[in-house]
Amino acid sequence: MPARWIRWLARARALRPRSAAAVAESLQVDLPPAAMNKPVLAADTVAIGLGGNLGDARQTLSWAVKAIAQLPQTQLQAVSSLYGSKPIDSSGPDYLNAVALVTTQLAPLDLLHALQAIELAAGRERPYRNAPRTLDLDIELWGQLQSDAAELTLPHPRMLERAFVLLPLAEVAPQCVSADQLQAVRGQGIELSQGSGWWL
Ligand code: AMP
Repeated sequence: MPARWIRWLARARALRPRSAAAVAESLQVDLPPAAMNKPVLAADTVAIGLGGNLGDARQTLSWAVKAIAQLPQTQLQAVSSLYGSKPIDSSGPDYLNAVALVTTQLAPLDLLHALQAIELAAGRERPYRNAPRTLDLDIELWGQLQSDAAELTLPHPRMLERAFVLLPLAEVAPQCVSADQLQAVRGQGIELSQGSGWWL
Protein backbone atom coordinates (compact mmCIF):
# COMPACT_ATOMS: atom_id res chain seq x y z
CA MET A 1 0.00 0.00 0.00
CA PRO A 2 1.49 3.38 -0.93
CA ALA A 3 2.79 5.39 2.03
CA ARG A 4 0.43 8.27 1.38
CA TRP A 5 -2.57 5.88 1.60
CA ILE A 6 -1.27 4.57 4.92
CA ARG A 7 -0.92 8.14 6.20
CA TRP A 8 -4.47 8.92 4.97
CA LEU A 9 -5.90 5.78 6.64
CA ALA A 10 -4.18 6.58 9.95
CA ARG A 11 -5.52 10.12 9.82
CA ALA A 12 -9.05 8.92 8.94
CA ARG A 13 -8.97 6.42 11.84
CA ALA A 14 -7.85 9.12 14.25
CA LEU A 15 -10.67 11.34 13.08
CA ARG A 16 -13.32 8.61 13.04
CA PRO A 17 -16.20 9.79 15.19
CA ARG A 18 -17.06 7.59 18.14
CA SER A 19 -20.46 9.08 18.88
CA ALA A 20 -22.81 11.90 17.96
CA ALA A 21 -21.60 13.75 21.04
CA ALA A 22 -17.97 13.38 19.87
CA VAL A 23 -18.88 14.74 16.45
CA ALA A 24 -20.69 17.66 18.05
CA GLU A 25 -17.68 18.37 20.22
CA SER A 26 -15.24 18.25 17.30
CA LEU A 27 -17.47 20.61 15.32
CA GLN A 28 -17.96 22.78 18.38
CA VAL A 29 -21.76 22.74 18.02
CA ASP A 30 -24.41 21.86 20.58
CA LEU A 31 -26.70 18.99 19.69
CA PRO A 32 -30.34 19.79 20.45
CA PRO A 33 -31.19 17.79 23.60
CA ALA A 34 -34.43 16.60 21.99
CA ALA A 35 -32.48 14.89 19.20
CA MET A 36 -30.64 12.79 21.76
CA ASN A 37 -33.41 12.08 24.20
CA LYS A 38 -36.80 12.65 22.58
CA PRO A 39 -39.61 12.24 25.08
CA VAL A 40 -42.14 9.79 23.67
CA LEU A 41 -45.38 8.04 24.45
CA ALA A 42 -44.77 4.33 25.08
CA ALA A 43 -45.77 2.03 22.21
CA ASP A 44 -48.80 0.60 24.04
CA THR A 45 -50.09 3.96 25.27
CA VAL A 46 -53.01 5.73 23.64
CA ALA A 47 -54.46 9.20 24.18
CA ILE A 48 -58.23 9.25 23.59
CA GLY A 49 -60.07 12.55 23.15
CA LEU A 50 -63.62 12.69 24.52
CA GLY A 51 -66.17 15.33 23.62
CA GLY A 52 -69.89 15.93 23.58
CA ASN A 53 -72.40 18.78 23.44
CA LEU A 54 -75.86 17.17 23.41
CA GLY A 55 -77.85 15.98 26.42
CA ASP A 56 -76.07 15.71 29.77
CA ALA A 57 -72.58 15.75 28.32
CA ARG A 58 -70.81 15.50 31.69
CA GLN A 59 -72.73 12.36 32.56
CA THR A 60 -72.17 10.87 29.08
CA LEU A 61 -68.41 11.54 29.19
CA SER A 62 -68.20 10.10 32.70
CA TRP A 63 -70.01 6.97 31.50
CA ALA A 64 -67.68 6.78 28.48
CA VAL A 65 -64.53 6.90 30.64
CA LYS A 66 -65.90 3.96 32.68
CA ALA A 67 -66.79 2.08 29.49
CA ILE A 68 -63.26 2.62 28.13
CA ALA A 69 -61.80 1.38 31.44
CA GLN A 70 -63.77 -1.86 30.99
CA LEU A 71 -62.57 -2.60 27.46
CA PRO A 72 -60.70 -5.91 27.21
CA GLN A 73 -56.89 -5.80 27.37
CA THR A 74 -57.07 -2.13 28.22
CA GLN A 75 -56.04 -0.27 31.37
CA LEU A 76 -57.08 3.27 32.20
CA GLN A 77 -53.99 5.24 33.25
CA ALA A 78 -55.13 8.84 33.63
CA VAL A 79 -58.04 11.17 32.96
CA SER A 80 -57.63 14.92 32.48
CA SER A 81 -59.78 17.63 33.97
CA LEU A 82 -63.05 18.43 32.21
CA TYR A 83 -63.02 21.49 29.92
CA GLY A 84 -65.78 23.56 28.34
CA SER A 85 -65.24 24.81 24.79
CA LYS A 86 -67.10 26.65 22.03
CA PRO A 87 -68.00 24.47 19.02
CA ILE A 88 -65.22 24.46 16.39
CA ASP A 89 -66.22 23.19 12.92
CA SER A 90 -69.50 22.25 14.60
CA SER A 91 -72.60 23.88 16.06
CA GLY A 92 -75.03 23.73 18.98
CA PRO A 93 -74.34 24.16 22.69
CA ASP A 94 -70.83 24.43 24.16
CA TYR A 95 -68.82 21.22 24.30
CA LEU A 96 -67.34 19.39 27.24
CA ASN A 97 -63.97 17.77 26.52
CA ALA A 98 -61.35 15.65 28.22
CA VAL A 99 -58.51 13.28 27.34
CA ALA A 100 -58.01 9.79 28.75
CA LEU A 101 -54.72 7.95 28.64
CA VAL A 102 -54.88 4.15 28.39
CA THR A 103 -52.51 1.31 27.80
CA THR A 104 -53.85 -1.44 25.60
CA GLN A 105 -52.89 -4.67 23.94
CA LEU A 106 -55.71 -4.31 21.41
CA ALA A 107 -54.87 -3.78 17.74
CA PRO A 108 -55.46 -0.18 16.57
CA LEU A 109 -58.56 -0.91 14.48
CA ASP A 110 -60.01 -3.09 17.24
CA LEU A 111 -59.73 -0.19 19.70
CA LEU A 112 -61.20 2.23 17.13
CA HIS A 113 -64.19 -0.06 16.56
CA ALA A 114 -64.67 -0.53 20.31
CA LEU A 115 -64.71 3.28 20.75
CA GLN A 116 -67.24 3.61 17.91
CA ALA A 117 -69.45 1.03 19.65
CA ILE A 118 -69.29 3.15 22.83
CA GLU A 119 -70.27 6.23 20.79
CA LEU A 120 -73.26 4.36 19.36
CA ALA A 121 -74.32 3.10 22.77
CA ALA A 122 -74.31 6.74 23.94
CA GLY A 123 -76.81 7.60 21.20
CA ARG A 124 -74.32 9.09 18.76
CA GLU A 125 -75.91 9.94 15.42
CA ARG A 126 -74.24 11.28 12.29
CA PRO A 127 -77.01 13.19 10.43
CA TYR A 128 -74.33 15.33 8.69
CA ARG A 129 -70.60 16.02 8.96
CA ASN A 130 -69.55 17.69 12.22
CA ALA A 131 -73.11 17.62 13.60
CA PRO A 132 -73.57 18.23 17.34
CA ARG A 133 -73.07 14.96 19.17
CA THR A 134 -73.77 13.19 22.44
CA LEU A 135 -70.31 11.63 22.36
CA ASP A 136 -67.23 11.83 20.17
CA LEU A 137 -64.25 9.58 20.84
CA ASP A 138 -61.08 10.17 18.84
CA ILE A 139 -57.72 8.45 19.01
CA GLU A 140 -55.34 11.40 19.23
CA LEU A 141 -52.02 9.56 19.68
CA TRP A 142 -50.96 5.95 19.77
CA GLY A 143 -47.36 5.68 20.93
CA GLN A 144 -45.27 6.95 18.02
CA LEU A 145 -47.54 5.35 15.39
CA GLN A 146 -48.11 7.29 12.20
CA SER A 147 -50.87 6.36 9.78
CA ASP A 148 -52.34 8.03 6.69
CA ALA A 149 -55.22 5.56 6.45
CA ALA A 150 -58.61 7.31 6.20
CA GLU A 151 -60.15 4.91 8.71
CA LEU A 152 -57.49 5.64 11.33
CA THR A 153 -55.18 8.59 10.82
CA LEU A 154 -52.46 8.94 13.45
CA PRO A 155 -51.72 11.26 15.06
CA HIS A 156 -55.29 12.58 14.74
CA PRO A 157 -55.10 15.02 11.79
CA ARG A 158 -56.69 17.96 13.62
CA MET A 159 -55.33 17.54 17.14
CA LEU A 160 -52.79 20.36 16.81
CA GLU A 161 -55.53 22.83 15.79
CA ARG A 162 -57.62 22.19 18.88
CA ALA A 163 -57.11 23.71 22.31
CA PHE A 164 -59.73 21.29 23.64
CA VAL A 165 -57.37 18.43 22.76
CA LEU A 166 -53.99 20.02 23.54
CA LEU A 167 -54.83 21.39 27.00
CA PRO A 168 -56.20 18.17 28.49
CA LEU A 169 -53.50 16.15 26.66
CA ALA A 170 -50.83 18.35 28.23
CA GLU A 171 -52.24 17.40 31.65
CA VAL A 172 -51.98 13.63 31.19
CA ALA A 173 -48.97 13.46 28.81
CA PRO A 174 -47.05 16.75 29.15
CA GLN A 175 -44.12 15.39 27.12
CA CYS A 176 -46.40 15.19 24.05
CA VAL A 177 -47.34 18.88 23.88
CA SER A 178 -44.90 21.74 23.39
CA ALA A 179 -45.27 25.29 24.68
CA ASP A 180 -45.35 26.50 21.06
CA GLN A 181 -48.25 24.18 20.26
CA LEU A 182 -50.21 25.48 23.26
CA GLN A 183 -49.37 29.04 22.30
CA ALA A 184 -50.72 28.47 18.78
CA VAL A 185 -54.25 27.66 20.09
CA ARG A 186 -54.28 30.22 22.90
CA GLY A 187 -57.05 32.36 21.41
CA GLN A 188 -59.64 29.57 21.43
CA GLY A 189 -62.40 29.86 24.00
CA ILE A 190 -61.80 27.04 26.45
CA GLU A 191 -62.25 26.98 30.21
CA LEU A 192 -61.76 24.53 33.03
CA SER A 193 -65.14 23.06 33.96
CA GLN A 194 -64.18 20.54 36.66
CA GLY A 195 -60.89 19.21 38.03
CA SER A 196 -59.63 15.62 38.10
CA GLY A 197 -62.07 13.07 39.45
CA TRP A 198 -65.05 14.63 37.60
CA TRP A 199 -65.82 11.29 35.98
CA LEU A 200 -65.94 9.14 39.15
P1 AMP B 1 -66.13 11.62 13.60
O1 AMP B 1 -67.39 11.82 12.83
O2 AMP B 1 -65.38 12.87 13.96
O3 AMP B 1 -66.33 10.74 14.82
O4 AMP B 1 -65.12 10.83 12.63
C1 AMP B 1 -65.19 9.46 12.54
C2 AMP B 1 -64.45 8.99 11.32
O5 AMP B 1 -63.10 9.38 11.36
C3 AMP B 1 -64.50 7.49 11.24
O6 AMP B 1 -64.84 7.14 9.93
C4 AMP B 1 -63.09 7.06 11.57
O7 AMP B 1 -62.75 5.87 10.87
C5 AMP B 1 -62.28 8.25 11.11
N1 AMP B 1 -60.99 8.44 11.79
C6 AMP B 1 -59.80 8.64 11.17
N2 AMP B 1 -58.81 8.80 12.05
C7 AMP B 1 -59.39 8.73 13.29
C8 AMP B 1 -58.86 8.83 14.61
N3 AMP B 1 -57.55 9.05 14.84
N4 AMP B 1 -59.73 8.70 15.64
C9 AMP B 1 -61.05 8.49 15.42
N5 AMP B 1 -61.61 8.38 14.19
C10 AMP B 1 -60.78 8.50 13.13
